[in-house]
Amino acid sequence: MRVLGIETSCDETGVAIYDDAPGAGLLAHRLHSQIEMHKDYGGVVPELASRDHIRRLVPLVRGMMADADISADSIDGIAYTSGPGLAGALLTGALMARSLAYAWGVPAVGVHHMEGHLLAPLLEAEPPEFPFVALLVSGGHTQLMKVEGIGRYELLGESIDDAAGEAFDKVAKMLGLDYPGGPSVARLALTGRDDAFKFPRPMLDRPGLDFSFSGLKTAVLTARNQSEDSPTKVADICASFEAAAVDTLIRKCLRALKQTGLKRLVLAGGVSANKRLRHDLALALKPIGGQAFYPAPAFCTDNGAMIAFAGAQRLRAGERQDLTVNVRARWPMTELAAI
Ligand code: ATP
Ligand code: MG
Ligand code: FE
Repeated sequence: MRVLGIETSCDETGVAIYDDAPGAGLLAHRLHSQIEMHKDYGGVVPELASRDHIRRLVPLVRGMMADADISADSIDGIAYTSGPGLAGALLTGALMARSLAYAWGVPAVGVHHMEGHLLAPLLEAEPPEFPFVALLVSGGHTQLMKVEGIGRYELLGESIDDAAGEAFDKVAKMLGLDYPGGPSVARLALTGRDDAFKFPRPMLDRPGLDFSFSGLKTAVLTARNQSEDSPTKVADICASFEAAAVDTLIRKCLRALKQTGLKRLVLAGGVSANKRLRHDLALALKPIGGQAFYPAPAFCTDNGAMIAFAGAQRLRAGERQDLTVNVRARWPMTELAAI
């Protein structure tokens, strides 16, 4: 089954074609990032995001299909992100997908954005087998899940305040660095000392698998305000913050593996691109014989490929979205049906 995937939940317009036939796989993908457009505002402006998705969608789909020499009549279904995310942005993708499905006479299915992220590592050459523990770390979510299969998700813990990516973004903003903060902070952290500031590792002293990043964020603000800014100080804050955030994520992952008795750990979402996280986690998993699985770096942040892949699984299982165009800005992943 050949599926066109469309992602428009936030500030990336992503399109892709995935074919689940043996030997096929991901046939094409395109991404337009709105980062430049939102940069001056220090974050995503929803109205601008929606308008830009509308402008980009048709040329992106057309260009991708032309370059990959894929004709409309070879497409068997369309998947689009139907939530969670910015309502206006979601609607642009949903309308595009529903209209194309109607015109081409193929079924459409709405995909949960976080299920897209979660399943992105399954696009890799050596995908993880079920069951596994998943750490979803993105701009809006920090969740530990026990995953038994597609749609079989048990929430083990989540952030009670900021998401991990959001913490990177806010720290970057405090330090006057570019949006999105993750890559900016990670780049500067390379030149800083990670023991220069003793930042807290929130919630590690308590049992359980929830996270909290707001105390860490406040500690960074206090450190910034304590003395004059200098390039070394900013780099030291970045390194010390990244160390604290990564350390917290890893220790909770180890706890989740221990609690579930599982050895496979899947990481997904924008923060899973973080090099220090990948490096330190590999070291931490070694003594317990654990194994980490990631999406390709390009598929850690938002993209169409993960939506085409997740949609293909659900379409194959017979899921269909009727002609109404529905999106859900909020949508707990545990409400999804098992397939
Ligand atoms: P959600 O998926 O929860 O709706 P989102 O789609 O905005 O949120 P993603 O696109 O998955 O999130 O990821 C973007 C986030 O990842 C941003 O917060 C960004 O700062 C962070 N990020 C990207 N690269 C890195 C990195 N190398 N290190 C740390 N954080 C990163
Ligand atoms: Mg984004
Ligand atoms: Fe995302």
